Amino acid sequence: MAKGKINVAVDNIFPLIKKFLYSDHEIFLRELISNATDASLKIKHMASIDEYKGDTDNIKIEVKIDEKGKKLHFIDQGIGMTKEEVKKYINDIAFSGAEEFLDKYKDKKNDSGIIGHFGLGFYSAFMVADQVEIITKSFKEDEEAVHWTCDGSPEYTLKKSDKKDRGTEIILHIADDSTEFLEEVRISELLNKYNKFMPIPIKFGTKEIADPDHTPKTTKDKDGKETTEDQKMITVDNIINNPNPAWTKKPSDLKDEDYSAFYHELYPMQFEEPLFHIHLNVDYPFNLTGILYFPKLTTNIDIQKDKIQLYQNQVFVTDNVEGIVPEFLQMLRGVIDSPDIPLNVSRSYLQSDGAVKKISSYITKKVADKLSSLFKKDRAEFEKKWNDIKIVIEYGMLSEPKFFEKAQNFALYPTVNDKYFTFDEFKEKIKAAQTDKDKNLVILYASNLDEQHSFIDEAEAKGYEVLLLDSPIISHLIQKLEGENSELSDKNQPVKFVRVDSDSIDKLIPKDEDQISKLSDEDQGKLKTIVEEIVPKEKYTVQLEALDSNSNPFIITQPEFMRRMKEMQQTGGGGMMGMGNFPEMYNLVVNTNSDLMQKILKAKGKRTEYVNQALDLARLSQNLLQGKEMTDFIKRSYDLMKG
Ligand code: ADP
Repeated sequence: MAKGKINVAVDNIFPLIKKFLYSDHEIFLRELISNATDASLKIKHMASIDEYKGDTDNIKIEVKIDEKGKKLHFIDQGIGMTKEEVKKYINDIAFSGAEEFLDKYKDKKNDSGIIGHFGLGFYSAFMVADQVEIITKSFKEDEEAVHWTCDGSPEYTLKKSDKKDRGTEIILHIADDSTEFLEEVRISELLNKYNKFMPIPIKFGTKEIADPDHTPKTTKDKDGKETTEDQKMITVDNIINNPNPAWTKKPSDLKDEDYSAFYHELYPMQFEEPLFHIHLNVDYPFNLTGILYFPKLTTNIDIQKDKIQLYQNQVFVTDNVEGIVPEFLQMLRGVIDSPDIPLNVSRSYLQSDGAVKKISSYITKKVADKLSSLFKKDRAEFEKKWNDIKIVIEYGMLSEPKFFEKAQNFALYPTVNDKYFTFDEFKEKIKAAQTDKDKNLVILYASNLDEQHSFIDEAEAKGYEVLLLDSPIISHLIQKLEGENSELSDKNQPVKFVRVDSDSIDKLIPKDEDQISKLSDEDQGKLKTIVEEIVPKEKYTVQLEALDSNSNPFIITQPEFMRRMKEMQQTGGGGMMGMGNFPEMYNLVVNTNSDLMQKILKAKGKRTEYVNQALDLARLSQNLLQGKEMTDFIKRSYDLMKG
């Protein structure tokens, strides 16, 4: 037996390992299984190029708990290590790797996410074990098996072993503070988290299944009564992973059902079907495979759980893909697998890394291309899905200029009557009717069919088209679309978005038409004073207008600019911060041509009631009347009826 001392500067490195990676202890499992997988893939490769003649067909990795002995075993049938290799790779390289890792990151333990995920390798075993053994036999015929033991100090022992078969067994003597890793459910959970799609089958325990080679016989007795013999059960390996997940296959080998099945394999708690999928597959200038799914997003909570998972060669790394996947696509689900994403670096570094930037823009481009082809292939189907995917697309248009450009081909603008247009189609459609006196193209929109019902009605009566734009971030997108379409040119007409309830119908799209008022200037002045004295000044700006005599007497509007800025402030960004809160201000449009105005002018005793009643009716039509104000309104209505 040989004793040796690993040459390191820090005397006892393992307490340090434990301390710095406290929250991430569980990664030891992924590290050891990754090593076992590498060793297995290597021997398969050797066999495939005829460098090794032994059997490599059904090799697997086994994880075994020895509860009594407080040990955890990892057994592989990979290439194994010779004595020299153990000395070289375990004592020298692996150790200095761990040391370097600690040196680099000991001050940055709070950089959540990727740090601590990779880089520690074999020595992460000491995060949970106070003694580790390696029993290994190389695939090279004339090399003898060796047994290495280390208790966490830089001292180790190395002796001969009588291990007969090729491969490596790692034995962890689990430390007293880590006994959770002797529990079957805990290991099961971790295998499922990190190793679900690793390329070599992983055996964890056994299970009973019905013997596939045995069909129970049915016999009849003399009374004709049937008896069926018991099903024969057999014990088989419990393989916990799927070594050939869908994303590693060629898109041409997969059907829609396969993509759907993989979605449910990835998210067993998701019962809804995804809307569609995008298969990613590049090998130049970087390697990346994966499948992204557009889910039907119904609640915010959906976005929280079930996120995109990042893998490196089928090893789960993280479900925090910030910096790698553009923010707007983080609402999608699925898998990205790339050996080219540097993992043992901080997030801030990731964001400035050139390769990572390329990956992010590749993904954006792929998603845009897919949406474009779906739109072209079956527009009706695309329109049906629009309301479920618009948030992602609109968010992408706002945050990624390249995506904004591409989205011109497929971003849709639905009308209140459920007709869908692209932006260009819609502009063409409304050009004649909705160009104002200053040559602006005015796009009318509503955000709520019920609340803005009377305004929509009036706009349609005038022959205008009204869009229904109800995404929470729509005010930002509108702002952007106006910005992109602000120059007047031969091909382009400046575009203005105006919500239907932001002004009286004649002013929404101002044309060169004179308004003729039934009231004299003197009466108009009188009326304005009367109304201003009664309605609360801090809330309403009174504005007289000569509208159609059949239009409502009072109309409450909120100017587009004020309202939009307020909405943008509420939904964040847009440079609105620090501008203070916008007050809740409305315009009260008084229709001087309404017959009611004569009544208000002439009335003596009931004047206040009439004005308040008309104001409340205007508020009521927009869902603005509640509580005490509603009660007062009802009481006043009865009183007026009584006369
Ligand atoms: P890394 O895997 O990043 O190289 P590790 O510290 O995990 O670093 O492992 C160091 C080396 O030890 C590996 O590169 C490999 O040569 C060897 N090794 C570790 N585990 C095994 C194993 N199960 N079978 C064969 N070789 C192994």
